[in-house]
Amino acid sequence: MDRSARLMERAVRRMPGGVNSPVRAFRSVGGDPLFMERGEGATIFDVDGNAYTDYVMSYGPLVLGHADRDVVEAVKATADHGTTFGAPTELEVEMAELVCELVPSVESVRMVNSGTEATMSAIRLARGFTGREKILKFEGNYHGHGDALLVSAGSGVATLGLPDSPGVTEGAAKDTAVLPYNDLAAVRELFEREGELFAAVIVEPVGGNMGCVPPADGYLEGLRELTSEYGVVLIFDEVMTGFRLARGGAQERFGVTPDMTCLGKIVGGGLPVGAYGGRQEIMDMLAPSGPVYQAGTLSGNPLAMSAGLATLRKVRESGFHERLEEIGARWREGMAEAASGGSRPFTINQVGSMVSIFFTEGPVTDFTSAATTDTEAFASFFWHLISRGVYLAPSAYEAGFLSVVHTEDVLERTFEAAREWFESENGAA
Ligand code: PLP
Repeated sequence: MDRSARLMERAVRRMPGGVNSPVRAFRSVGGDPLFMERGEGATIFDVDGNAYTDYVMSYGPLVLGHADRDVVEAVKATADHGTTFGAPTELEVEMAELVCELVPSVESVRMVNSGTEATMSAIRLARGFTGREKILKFEGNYHGHGDALLVSAGSGVATLGLPDSPGVTEGAAKDTAVLPYNDLAAVRELFEREGELFAAVIVEPVGGNMGCVPPADGYLEGLRELTSEYGVVLIFDEVMTGFRLARGGAQERFGVTPDMTCLGKIVGGGLPVGAYGGRQEIMDMLAPSGPVYQAGTLSGNPLAMSAGLATLRKVRESGFHERLEEIGARWREGMAEAASGGSRPFTINQVGSMVSIFFTEGPVTDFTSAATTDTEAFASFFWHLISRGVYLAPSAYEAGFLSVVHTEDVLERTFEAAREWFESENGAA
């Protein structure tokens, strides 16, 4: 028995399912998770000494790769002076200034400790600001595990085939409306009936939790128009897309400015961080400026701020996103070529450095079409790649994440491994 298997045996005795987040379990692909020991650039090493090219990158934060020296040095230097004070620090001011500089919609920002906290708090604030209760979300979009948002929530839940979670009360979910992603007419119809009851529309501007699903032409613009017309707060959940799809995230890339933005992942440079921000008049409703309460013992702590700042400063450099675009385009081209070697239908979605291959005819534009992907084929593909030293997320519904350290030779090896599978018996349709 290898060390991963032995650790899993111990883990399941003392941790539900052996993991601290269900997406890390290997249930949907069959088998047990690999325990990781260290990471370097685009490579991770498990506790048994196997190396893998990583396309998970901790589900998005590691846009610079593992153990980036600047990030590591910043964290070490900060830790030497103490890790938390429960009092303001200069690092928080620097972070707030940088986020406001980079993200078009953000005039004022509150740091929290996870993406979940960011979306939950943004919803509360939008409700407090508008005095309305209903919210609208979209099928297959995941906004963390807050009660009101854990409805039709994409990858984690879809992978495990769970119903919208037990423990979420009817009361918490009853004010959440859900519509298909990329269907503007459905939003218009709903708002014509009861638009003035809605506090907020929350959307992943590029879907990343049903695989990568880009917004249809005019979709984000349409949401902007409809929400403005009905006085509804438009929230972009840029926890995945923020700083990744452009310096200012998807809102910069698509030229649509929401009222509020949720951030996570890259903003913390690999430490536990989330943030939400937006128009000054909305953020001014937040305590201690205004009556909407939200707080956090470790929010904006120096370690997290220094990792985030070190990351964002590199992300801000000129040429950074051009490089990510090139790598994303190369992934699409190489993967398509590899998959064309077999007989199996496939669809590739890619927006910058967010990528997905679906085992279906396509196109994949929403959760219903994403769910036509052949999950058994994915499991077989997944294990083949593991055997060739390539690590994908253990779910057909997770987007893959590229970073600036996914160089040509790294990608080439992945395409070669993929080609082998597509040309094999297992890869045949
Ligand atoms: N929003 C989006 C779009 C996400 O992808 C995620 C997590 O993957 C979250 C929110 C929740 O973030 P966290 O896992 O940090 O709570």
